[in-house]
Amino acid sequence: MKLIEGAPIADAVYAECQRDIEQLKAAGHTPGLAVVLVGDDPASKAYVGAKDRKCQELGLHSVKIEKPADISQDELLGLIDELNADDSIHGILVQMPLPGDLDEDEVILRIAPEKDVDGLHPQNVGKLAMEDPTGFAPCTPSGCQRMLIESDIDTEGKHVVVVGRSLLVGKTLALLMMAKGQGANSTVTVAHSRTQDLPALTRQADILVAAIGRADFIGPDHVKDGAVVIDVGINRVDDDTKKRGYRLVGDVDFEAVKDKCSAITPVPGGVGKMTIAMLMANTIRACKLASGE
Ligand code: NAP
Repeated sequence: MKLIEGAPIADAVYAECQRDIEQLKAAGHTPGLAVVLVGDDPASKAYVGAKDRKCQELGLHSVKIEKPADISQDELLGLIDELNADDSIHGILVQMPLPGDLDEDEVILRIAPEKDVDGLHPQNVGKLAMEDPTGFAPCTPSGCQRMLIESDIDTEGKHVVVVGRSLLVGKTLALLMMAKGQGANSTVTVAHSRTQDLPALTRQADILVAAIGRADFIGPDHVKDGAVVIDVGINRVDDDTKKRGYRLVGDVDFEAVKDKCSAITPVPGGVGKMTIAMLMANTIRACKLASGE
């Protein structure tokens, strides 16, 4: 069994980013990312902090904007308008979920598509479906695809079963994997909570992706011998032996499944390492597209 760890693959993406940033800076352009955090959800705060630190490390222009949970929809849209008009900002990410009654769809629609490095604007979702390379794909599914490519896993003609149909992960990964090109050309099935006899379906997968949000949900009954398993899930389970009182586990019961797989990603240390790396790569590409470099 091959363990597909996220850190070395993310490091390869960061090394590419660094080269690109140096070239862009030499040509007079510094890629800039604005991350907007509304409210004080601890998990969102941690994600935003990690993104900001990585920007600083790489030498990107980083703007972290924190707003209280009672910000009005109009104020938030006004802030997006300002960032859309700011030439030093090439990527805008509004950390989801938004608290209270704030309308997430309206916020996403307001972000200029060419700055939507999270890839959730309908124009970018459309470009992904149309295989238009000027769009931005969401970072977590792009990260999964990059892990397959860097691990030399053949995807062409393979049956990929994605469990989960969210736009953020499952549906978008299905679009990426069925597209023409490297790390794609797969035959894709998407499963969800209404799928009948899920284990019988997932046992047909050459590559099984779990993006469900349920701890240890995928067990040995779901996995064909020799399958590649990509675990996107990040779930907290209570654990008194840990100082913080919980540990992170994936959607796949790693210990029960690992010996059946030809390759598997761990949690933590797998897909989770890729999301910020792909965000940095998208921001740099947004800067290249904006500057014509
Ligand atoms: P989500 O929006 O809640 O979607 C979960 C999907 O799983 C839905 O499509 C749901 O089906 C399906 N599902 C739920 N229970 C199921 C069951 N019993 N059988 C089959 N399908 C079932 O979650 P998400 O945003 O896609 O995230 C999925 C997981 O990935 C979460 O653990 C999240 O924390 C993690 N995640 C990780 C990263 C990262 O950086 N690694 C990034 C994003 C998300 P229905 O559509 O029918 O409800």
